[in-house]
Amino acid sequence: MANNSTKDIVLKYNFKFTKSLGQNFLTDDSVLNDIVNGAEVNENDVVIEIGPGVGTLTKELLGKAKKVIAIEVDSSLIPILQEELKEFDNFTLIHKDATKVDFNELIEGEDTVKIVANLPYYVTTPIITDLLNKKYNFTSITVMIQKEVADRINANPSSKEYGALTLLVQYYCDTKIVRVVPPSCFIPQPKVDSTVIRLDKLPAPRAVVEDEELFFRIIRDSFNMRRKTLWNGMKGLGLEKELLEKAFADADIDPKRRGETLSIEEFAKLSNCVNQIKKHNR
Ligand code: SAM
Repeated sequence: MANNSTKDIVLKYNFKFTKSLGQNFLTDDSVLNDIVNGAEVNENDVVIEIGPGVGTLTKELLGKAKKVIAIEVDSSLIPILQEELKEFDNFTLIHKDATKVDFNELIEGEDTVKIVANLPYYVTTPIITDLLNKKYNFTSITVMIQKEVADRINANPSSKEYGALTLLVQYYCDTKIVRVVPPSCFIPQPKVDSTVIRLDKLPAPRAVVEDEELFFRIIRDSFNMRRKTLWNGMKGLGLEKELLEKAFADADIDPKRRGETLSIEEFAKLSNCVNQIKKHNR
């Protein structure tokens, strides 16, 4: 069903879209409902919304959450949001680039913090990566992103979508596809399908990893050259041949396998064995 308020507000303020800011605004009520319901927002939640646009999703969130903190970079949207959402006393607007915000300062002392957003697509991966790597204390992230990126996040080993992003997200979170959204649900229409995906932060990472920097380095090296074997991918670690052989033997992993066939647990095992060898051969 069409949501006329997005179009009405755009017309009312004669708002001009900036393509480079990923401004594709939602115009479909069923998608708004599916995002809010998919995130299971309730009156105990503090919600952080990245990129509120003209406030269409924000309004739905404000009706359900204890508090909504929205971060918007486009200065022309600030007066629109202030005017359109002025009746809500549980709304805080931050005029900043979300990639430069310290989320800890926003969520200090709060119990359940959920990130909910129709993300600007040009910064989808850096934002999700940052939220996870900086280990912010939130409960879940429910975001609309390009379908292709959601498929990578939700992938299984040995599929063409499986890669470093899959492993990063699934190391920290359970992933669930909420729904696919066609271009017709936005103004202006994007060129690609979108997906609403929910990431539930695990109480502890999915695998026990001794050195996370090494773990993610091995993952990156293994996927940099997808067609190459693990052995070739891991040469860059600078371990002597015998030591690298020992790491694979200790982990019981065949060095001729390709990175895309390894589960998170296997990458963890391999990186822990490399870590032990490095420690004992300093
Ligand atoms: N939430 C609105 C909706 O669903 O209709 C708008 C979503 S639109 C895809 C992305 C929004 O993110 C725009 O309002 C854009 O100005 C804002 N944005 C783009 N880059 C940003 C950044 N680095 N930090 C914060 N907001 C950003």
